[in-house]
Amino acid sequence: MIVFYDPIQESHSPTQPHVFGGELLPPAETADRAKRLLGALERHGHRVVTPDDIDESLLLEVHSQRYLEFLETAHERWRAETGSPREGEAVPYIRPIPGTPWKAPPSVLAQMGWFSNDVDPILEGTWPAVMGGARCASSAAEASLSMGVAYALTRPPGHHAARETYGGYCFINNGAVAASRLRQQMQRVAILDIDTHHGNGTQSIFWERSDVLTISIHGDTTEHFPFFLGHEDERGAGEGLGYNRNHPLPTGSGWSAYRRALEASFDLIESFGAEALVVALGVDTHEAHGVLSLRGDDYSMIGSAIRSLGLPTTIVQEGGYEPDTLEEAVPAVLQGFTGD
Ligand SMILES: [Zn+2]
Repeated sequence: MIVFYDPIQESHSPTQPHVFGGELLPPAETADRAKRLLGALERHGHRVVTPDDIDESLLLEVHSQRYLEFLETAHERWRAETGSPREGEAVPYIRPIPGTPWKAPPSVLAQMGWFSNDVDPILEGTWPAVMGGARCASSAAEASLSMGVAYALTRPPGHHAARETYGGYCFINNGAVAASRLRQQMQRVAILDIDTHHGNGTQSIFWERSDVLTISIHGDTTEHFPFFLGHEDERGAGEGLGYNRNHPLPTGSGWSAYRRALEASFDLIESFGAEALVVALGVDTHEAHGVLSLRGDDYSMIGSAIRSLGLPTTIVQEGGYEPDTLEEAVPAVLQGFTGD
């Protein structure tokens, strides 16, 4: 399978510890993830190419102008405002009280809180890195139309990024960029999010649209990140009513429950009349991550099941943070799809 990868994505590699359960843990979403995954895909014989430039109007289909300008300039402004060094990591720490009007504070410290819903650092290399990911997503989408399938090795991931919000390691919603590229040539595009965490950013971006069907299969968000969204009764609004579907699964669900959710998703994609598909692929569904309980051959079955839809398919990398799982499960999905 053709793999799009841009090494500039390695320029975002936070070192800030991650707080979980009262413990300081090393960061999970690092450049090393991409390097290990790339090595595994090369060992499996996949052809790795660098992406083309992106039509920047695609980014404005997904994110607002002011959000993109913020991301591009935030680190430089943070350094100027705080006197921090070039290698410093800018972490949001203050947020507006919900319901109060935002007074557009000029301080980048306030703007980081406004534009985020988590504690992800912005580094000097974050903007070039996330633009590299967007290029991979766009190029893979274009390639899928002529080649049938293509894979974008994107990191940091994208599906938690909303129109004006970063969080959950995500800054630009790469799956949404891919869908927007496909929409330039196709009338109806489906996004199937199979990361173990709900694709809250993707859902919100397409919430009122009927031309992009968004489906997410994930661990129940009453217990798991990203919380707040991801429930079955969230179906979209306005013109988009009926074009968002969630399949939350109980903690520990294995292949039999997962397969049923996949089949229900395929029925929706077919009745929608999708002409192209984006798969937001997270392999944190593996039992090693403690949310769902997929393993081993389940991943090649996911790949072959998705191929059975017979649609031009763009596979965009999302989560999966346990290195051995990442190296095994992602190639297994691709192998299942190609049948090689
Ligand atoms: Zn995830």
